[in-house]
Amino acid sequence: MSEFLLQARELTKDFPVSGNRRVHAVSGVSLEIRDGETLGLVGESGCGKSTLGRLLLRLIHPTSGEVLFRGQSITGMSEKAFHPLRRQMQLVFQDPYASLDPRMSVRDLIAEPIINWRLCDGREAVTQKVVELLEAVGLQEEFLYRYPHQFSGGQRQRIGIARAIAVDPAFIVCDEPVSALDVSVQNQILNLLKALKSSRGLTYLFISHDLSVVRYLSDRICVMFLGKVCEIGPTEAVYRHPRHPYTRFLLDAVPLPDPSLRGKELRLLEGEPPSPTNPPPGCCFHTRCPHAQPRCAREAPPLRDIGEAQVACHFAEGL
Ligand code: SF4
Repeated sequence: MSEFLLQARELTKDFPVSGNRRVHAVSGVSLEIRDGETLGLVGESGCGKSTLGRLLLRLIHPTSGEVLFRGQSITGMSEKAFHPLRRQMQLVFQDPYASLDPRMSVRDLIAEPIINWRLCDGREAVTQKVVELLEAVGLQEEFLYRYPHQFSGGQRQRIGIARAIAVDPAFIVCDEPVSALDVSVQNQILNLLKALKSSRGLTYLFISHDLSVVRYLSDRICVMFLGKVCEIGPTEAVYRHPRHPYTRFLLDAVPLPDPSLRGKELRLLEGEPPSPTNPPPGCCFHTRCPHAQPRCAREAPPLRDIGEAQVACHFAEGL
């Protein structure tokens, strides 16, 4: 069996926009996620993080490239063949309120995936399972018949997490799961995600623009810019010795740990990012990079091993 739970091979996703133009949301991304690890995915808003998460979950299909789950390509699979794997791959949303039907009680919201996947027989068994899940996410049984509007943001995120783990998944994409919450509540949810990961043997892709959050939770970090991977490597190695100029920008601009910076979008570089409908030739970062050389505008740097990380920069060794 593959040592990797998930693999992306040269994943590319374009979306049509007006006229003949296309947004290049994800461009040629290859990465692996090992069984039981948390890969943190970080970058500015609009860099393709969420699109990559949805590609890995097969919620959208790539323009080219493929995704492998436990060594098996899921990209060309029929819906029928993929169906048993769908349960193993779940999503926790940024805004749990938007993902919870306001007309359903907490009991019914969490029971829905259990019933859909026929994981329990009979109403009583389903309710018992919901109570166990509420307990697992730190909510009391007395909340069973309340509705989403009766909960705080943090409690609603706990309900969203309970729904995701209800089907005993192997892999969860957490897409900015704490960015809409107050800092004190963020910490509680991060600790909950950490505890659930170890008690249930979960694997996470943790998407965030918040570097301190990513560092707290992740075994490895992947930095994206304009739909491409700039740098990927073990968390502490990347934080201690960032190699790519963009990773350095992100880290230099955010003294860590700094809770006061949490919840803010990263807008740290001079000027606006280049347009994803018209990405620059060569290195996608060259229009903003203080180390750019003429070669950078001509030649796209491949990801290569440098130290413990992989870095897409022609000159990373000398920086
Ligand atoms: Fe900067 Fe050139 Fe490296 Fe790109 S390849 S990050 S432009 S130095």
